[in-house]
Amino acid sequence: MDYQILVNKDNPLPRAHIPNNLVEVNSKYKDNIKLDKKAYESFILLQKEALKYNYKIDIESGYRDYDYQENLYNRLVKDKGYSYAITRIAEPGKSEHQTGLAIDFCIYKDNKCYIEHEVEELEETKWIHNNAYKYGFILRYPEGKEDITKYSYEPWHLRFIGDISSVLYNNKITLEEYYEKKY
Ligand SMILES: [Zn+2]
Repeated sequence: MDYQILVNKDNPLPRAHIPNNLVEVNSKYKDNIKLDKKAYESFILLQKEALKYNYKIDIESGYRDYDYQENLYNRLVKDKGYSYAITRIAEPGKSEHQTGLAIDFCIYKDNKCYIEHEVEELEETKWIHNNAYKYGFILRYPEGKEDITKYSYEPWHLRFIGDISSVLYNNKITLEEYYEKKY
């Protein structure tokens, strides 16, 4: 598995791309979530560390296959139109979730589960953004980098990239910039 794989609007995956190390995830939020084995094991370590601060983080979405993404995308285009959909959801083949290395996290707090935009202002989220790199993750679509990633800010979306995560975190760069500038 290439943990540093770059998947975006210019670098799509074929329909047939299926990761070979997928494992079943234990999530309170939803059944049947799968992730790359190493990405999941790393997330568990992050989750355990978070718990020391009483931050309860979990997985809301992991691996999505090509057909699933196609359905999501088509539905959003139908409901909200192309120009809305194109900046908010990946077209089939262009989602990192197809790699099995992307995680949408959620946060349990006050008997509620916070997902997607709801996590933005939480202290847990801030902590995750500043500590996930220690476990091989980056915040894949940061605020202020929309012109580079071609995605709106997604405070909930983490991407496992392995050892280079600290390089990206310390230099405040995206995966696109990492490849561009050859750090
Ligand atoms: Zn995501």
